[in-house]
Amino acid sequence: MKVLVINCGSSSLKYQVLDMTGESLLAKGLVERIGIEGSALTHEKIGLSDKFKLVTPMNNHREAIGHVIDALLDRDHGVISSMGDIGAVGHRVVHAGEKYAKSVLINDGVIEALKECIELAPLHNPPNLLGIEACRELMPETPMTAVFDTAFHQTMPPEAYIYALPYRYYEKYKVRRYGFHGTSHKYVAERASYLLGVNLNDLKIITCHLGNGASVTAIKRGKCIDTSMGFTPLEGLVMGTRSGDLDPAIVSFIRDKEGIHLHDVIDVLNKESGVLGISGVSSDFRDLEAAVEDGNEKASLAIKVFTRKVRFYIGAYIAEMNGVDAIVFTAGLGENSANMRSVICSDLGNLGIKLDLVRNNVRGKETIISRDDSRVAILMIPTNEELMIARDTYALARK
Ligand code: ADP
Repeated sequence: MKVLVINCGSSSLKYQVLDMTGESLLAKGLVERIGIEGSALTHEKIGLSDKFKLVTPMNNHREAIGHVIDALLDRDHGVISSMGDIGAVGHRVVHAGEKYAKSVLINDGVIEALKECIELAPLHNPPNLLGIEACRELMPETPMTAVFDTAFHQTMPPEAYIYALPYRYYEKYKVRRYGFHGTSHKYVAERASYLLGVNLNDLKIITCHLGNGASVTAIKRGKCIDTSMGFTPLEGLVMGTRSGDLDPAIVSFIRDKEGIHLHDVIDVLNKESGVLGISGVSSDFRDLEAAVEDGNEKASLAIKVFTRKVRFYIGAYIAEMNGVDAIVFTAGLGENSANMRSVICSDLGNLGIKLDLVRNNVRGKETIISRDDSRVAILMIPTNEELMIARDTYALARK
């Protein structure tokens, strides 16, 4: 069966087509600037060297998905001969609240439940729903699934997800910690278990998903017991543009001092903070590392604040799990920056964490990067959320 995986943002859309017989990737692509001037689709058939590019107005997600289907059917760049070749469509959905702890087949009831979750994820769930509705219009007979970023974290115990606020806010409004990047944390934990040759049930793992958005998760016996993101993806680590944890009193203080609205302060915390905010240079760690080489002190400070926080969570989760067997690095920064992994793992010998600097010099390939005498295995594992979505979709659609 061929599965189409769709990840819809507000003005962009990423997709992949996988053949689930051998779990092979057939094609992938990206639509950018949906609803904005300059809409463009870039499509790649795996194995073909030239990419297919289309610049044409795309006013909405339905039009964008229409062009994606055309690209998939294209004589030279396509990977299907008719729409019927797509056996199922898997949609990445950010927030399922407490409603779903697993992926689900989409029906009208699921759509209603996701609409109810919009107030929990006003930036993310609406475009996810647009993608689902567009696909249902264009492929009404094809089974579709929703795979949630929050689902894997639903196993957190109450002491990890309850905020120390009046309990009624949880009861009335479901204000609690949810966690995100769940599909990625789950994928790399499963890969780590495979690579180490140890059953997931016998492992305590800390997974560090370090991309533009970043989170750390504690996984005991295959289940998430804690994660650094909370009610929204704003909590936890310092990120590219997000502040991560801070004293909530700062929010009203800045509002009063700057004379701006509360939602504008939250916007600053989401979009102008993190390593970008501290350095004033960039949210991209490649730019920051280059700036540090040029002697930029604020860039250097930004990286130190960032790495301190990752180490802080690793330490916290070792305490929470009474130890750790494996630490996994993944996502843009975790996969690509040997330097950042080495700073994060430095001086942790007392905790049994010893990085091998030669093995650490790796990119793009799953690798155990700890020293032979390290009690804790350290691994670099490229994430693959699309494969996880395709697997869940294939399993549900076959039923
Ligand atoms: P997201 O999916 O959250 O947008 P990614 O997982 O794609 O983010 O990660 C993007 C980030 O990864 C970039 O902003 C950059 O900071 C970092 N990154 C990617 N490649 C490198 C590299 N070679 N060296 C350092 N950082 C990198």
